Amino acid sequence: MDGCKIIKYTGYRNSMDSTGIIFDLKKFAIHDGPGIRTTVFMKGCPLDCGWCHNPEGRKNDPEKILIRNRNSKEESFGREITAINLLKEIEKDRVFYEQSGGGVTFSGGEPMSQVEFLAEMLQLCKRNKISTAVDTSGYAPFEFFKKIYDLTDLFLYDLKIMDNDLHQHFTGVSNKLILDNLTKLADMGNKIIARIPVIPGVTDSKDNFDNIVKFLVPLKNITEICLLPYNKLGEDKRERFGLSNNLGKLSIQENEEMNRLADIFDSSRFRVKIKG
Ligand code: SF4
Repeated sequence: MDGCKIIKYTGYRNSMDSTGIIFDLKKFAIHDGPGIRTTVFMKGCPLDCGWCHNPEGRKNDPEKILIRNRNSKEESFGREITAINLLKEIEKDRVFYEQSGGGVTFSGGEPMSQVEFLAEMLQLCKRNKISTAVDTSGYAPFEFFKKIYDLTDLFLYDLKIMDNDLHQHFTGVSNKLILDNLTKLADMGNKIIARIPVIPGVTDSKDNFDNIVKFLVPLKNITEICLLPYNKLGEDKRERFGLSNNLGKLSIQENEEMNRLADIFDSSRFRVKIKG
């Protein structure tokens, strides 16, 4: 299982009383799939990306973190929520989903870290006719994808670095499982948007992009490529959370640079978007 550290799936219990751990709920999200969405940020992630701007999403359980600023103090991150209460939160914006073609996106962290709760939530949303998307690093046993496949309208699937040694170095895990899963998932028929975090000096080389194009071209059901510009928020956050910042201070890409990277997909059949 490629050293995968994710908890074992034991089948969803289909109980509205079951609970999951979330660390944020973003209303009116417009970059996490089509239309207006509610994005649910679930705790737990087996990766350790040097550029992560959600370090509070890494650990599985709620936690208190000493925030280092002028008045350093402990803050809590993560709360337990029942499936029914989370559904009620999601339901509040149904009218916006219906008008805009939106829905709910489960993100993280890595939502597969709580696959039982994720499957339950997806099933509840489906039953209530709310469109579903799952934003994943792809680093989970394929068995997990099979469990949620019928319940997920859209996968937002991250691709970071094609060179396995570099992937291991910058994210803490091999990319083998991630690439294998995407190949299998693409054969199953669900819509997939491949998302590439554009990290200066890490993922943004022509070589990496050429290899991503080469890998994606033969795959079916990839409807779009989305380039995610570097988010500097992660640097401050990592500092405030007392985490190491091995990448140092990086500059945000200029528009021309993002367009140059998008152009690498020109000769492919993919529609490419740059997230604002
Ligand atoms: S996969 Fe996402 S949440 Fe997990 S460490 Fe990487 S950037 Fe952070």
